[in-house]
Amino acid sequence: MTDAAESIFTKIINRDIPAEILFENDRVIAIRDIAPQAPVHLLVVPKVPHYSNVTELAAGDPELLAEIVATAHNLATLHANGEYRLVFNSGETVGQTVFHVHAHVLSGGLQEQSLA
Ligand code: 5GP
Repeated sequence: MTDAAESIFTKIINRDIPAEILFENDRVIAIRDIAPQAPVHLLVVPKVPHYSNVTELAAGDPELLAEIVATAHNLATLHANGEYRLVFNSGETVGQTVFHVHAHVLSGGLQEQSLA
């Protein structure tokens, strides 16, 4: 998929395909990744479809990038212990498969809290 306007995330935003939506406002949507790579693996996606990667987003709309980071923090607090890795794949050779910018929020979940 190379046309961001036709990305899987646009289809999810438009409710053309289902997803577990954890948060949504006018600008961003957060979903659970369909193939989790960690106990908590969420995706934060801007609704505008035209930024392919984080470099383009940072240059074009830094406030939206900051909102993605803040959303990731809030989700990690709600769905994990507040600690998380934030990953933006940028380019096919490092594993980017969807060219509609998105942040992976990866965390170990709530185990540490529940054992405390
Ligand atoms: P990328 O490889 O582009 O950085 O990340 C794309 C992510 O989207 C992958 O982690 C992949 O598992 C996830 N993904 C692909 N298709 C779907 C889908 O239909 N629903 C959800 N929830 N996640 C998806």
